[in-house]
Amino acid sequence: MVLGVDVGGTKIAVAAVDGVKATHAVEHPTVLDNTDGLLDGMEHAVREVMREAGEPDAIGVGVPSQIEYETGTVESSVNIPLTGVPLREELGRRFGVPVFVDNDANCAALAEAHIVGARHLVMLTLGTGVGGGVVINGLTFRGAHGLGAELGHMTINPDGPPCPGNCPNHGCLEAYCSGQALERDATELANDKTNSPLAARLGPDGKVSGRELVSAADDGDGDALLLMENFARMLGVGIATYVNVFEPERLAIGGGLSRASHLFLDRAVREAGSRALPALWERVTIALAEGGADAGVIGAGVLAAVEIADRDTGKSHATTTEGIE
Ligand SMILES: [Zn+2]
Repeated sequence: MVLGVDVGGTKIAVAAVDGVKATHAVEHPTVLDNTDGLLDGMEHAVREVMREAGEPDAIGVGVPSQIEYETGTVESSVNIPLTGVPLREELGRRFGVPVFVDNDANCAALAEAHIVGARHLVMLTLGTGVGGGVVINGLTFRGAHGLGAELGHMTINPDGPPCPGNCPNHGCLEAYCSGQALERDATELANDKTNSPLAARLGPDGKVSGRELVSAADDGDGDALLLMENFARMLGVGIATYVNVFEPERLAIGGGLSRASHLFLDRAVREAGSRALPALWERVTIALAEGGADAGVIGAGVLAAVEIADRDTGKSHATTTEGIE
């Protein structure tokens, strides 16, 4: 039995995970004002699940941060106070069982691959920013230190707008296909066309939110539809490249913005289909993510289960090598 922990900007979710099923789930608000409070909150939630589900063989943790995977140390963390925290060591000490820590987008991709039964999968998470994960032959691809697979920071246009992420580049996918990019474009248009329906949706903060833009597009506003069309086109450009590079069986689209997929998905798939290499394109499925609200917890649990299985295989492999020598 393994536990999955999903640390979000607003809540911490913990559950026992069996295959791709989560049970004994609990949720608590995330403590954001200090690191110790956050860690104590995680411990409290984990112990609550352990009281019902029993002692786990391992714990997987997904956090919205950059993680050096081997040590489970948080390299940087914008929304929650974990920068520099050796999370794997800290939680391992508290619980006395193996702990594995990964970026939440990697966990979501791993969950999706196991839920749909795909061994080769790319997942894009479209939200405030653009996250992503790559699963190759059933395992998460992370690069040399765990910092890789930053799919949102692939350049779509070298002369494009500054990337809204913590990133020095211009014209990344995140600069076109994120909630922040939609907000930027909708606000700019509202300020240029002061009599437009989008201008009427300017909020007290002087911005048109992504949510308002989506709502305007749903109402049939031409300006809003044009912005969504551009969003879809750029997303299609990105999808085509991911398909060409990774040749996944499936490319899944998740995240909060996927709820507005009726405004962009068909158009993005058409764009991608006109750009991807034909032999790869005819073998890939582009689909909305099937994992629901508990995908983060499930992915963290799957991570722990995969790592334990991997380690056991590693052991037997080492023994075999020794025998041969
Ligand atoms: Zn970027």
